Amino acid sequence: MQYNKHIPVSDALLAWYDVHARDMPWRVSPADRAAGICPDPYRIWMSEVMLQQTTVAAVRDYFHRFTARWPTVRDLADAPDEQVMGEWAGLGYYARARNLLKCARVVANDYDGQFPDTYDALLTLPGVGPYTAAAIASIAFDQPETVLDGNVERVMARLFDIHDPLPASKAQLKARAGELTPQLRPGDYAQAVMDLGATICTPKSPACGICPLRDPCEARQAGTAPELPKKTPKKPKPTRYGHVYLAQRADGAWLLERRPDKGLLGGMLGWPGSDWNDAPQPSPPFMAEWQALSSEVRHTFTHFHLILTVHSAELPDHMTPNALQILDKHDFRPSDLPTVMRKAYDLWRGQ
Ligand code: SF4
Repeated sequence: MQYNKHIPVSDALLAWYDVHARDMPWRVSPADRAAGICPDPYRIWMSEVMLQQTTVAAVRDYFHRFTARWPTVRDLADAPDEQVMGEWAGLGYYARARNLLKCARVVANDYDGQFPDTYDALLTLPGVGPYTAAAIASIAFDQPETVLDGNVERVMARLFDIHDPLPASKAQLKARAGELTPQLRPGDYAQAVMDLGATICTPKSPACGICPLRDPCEARQAGTAPELPKKTPKKPKPTRYGHVYLAQRADGAWLLERRPDKGLLGGMLGWPGSDWNDAPQPSPPFMAEWQALSSEVRHTFTHFHLILTVHSAELPDHMTPNALQILDKHDFRPSDLPTVMRKAYDLWRGQ
């Protein structure tokens, strides 16, 4: 549908969405929504938690696995922690998985298994911040909340030709997005803006020629669209170093640690090792002839790069060093490891 100055931006966008909505495993299509089918708040909540800092492509398989294994919030609330952490392995930002469980248990126990339907109540749930609360209230419950993710920020900056850099311009962009949010179909509208940003108003080469908002778009008129939104340059990430120790017994069992709940990779299974800093001290879990592998593991977290030296040795029979656990070779699944620990395992296996 072409934009016409006599209709609001939201109408033009909704008409476009009715034809071009992306197919998502958690989404109710606009046609089904119009026919009265409502989204399942459990699935919307799970998708939004998984999508924090992660792409749709990376999330799809995890979403299918989680919802097949735990179809309702009560099923998830009853799941053992280690099963959920294992299923989350590889998706990153592991605090999300811990909060996912905490939140499922709060909803199951305090809300009788029903997600609350207002922004304020959703905001009280573990792991649900302002963005996620607005997204669930809007998409699952059709509340006119303002949902501002990276896609929406980009569309708003261009639609209104806003040159103030992110992140300082967030409040301004949110105010603009709020002004456009309609009272009718706000859930579909929120998803429409996100879809427009993901498929048409893309970061490097916006397809303005086929955009439903090309007439009102100020950046298109000014020729500034590709350079928006402007961003304050980030500081370069520091590099930290560390040691990890892979010890296998003659019968194939592995020596592992369950990391403490708080902190990076909290609650996940991993190899014992040193602190990660500028000059870490080697800290093998037991005395042995440790062999350092010739290559290192390189991994990037949100705030730093990490280079790990990987050591290996044979674990003597009948030894379980303090605070560590032995996993029988049949119980050891490399896919349960977070990516950085999986890289250490793959390196060991390759050598
Ligand atoms: S006209 Fe171009 S810059 Fe403006 S919203 Fe559409 S795709 Fe983005």
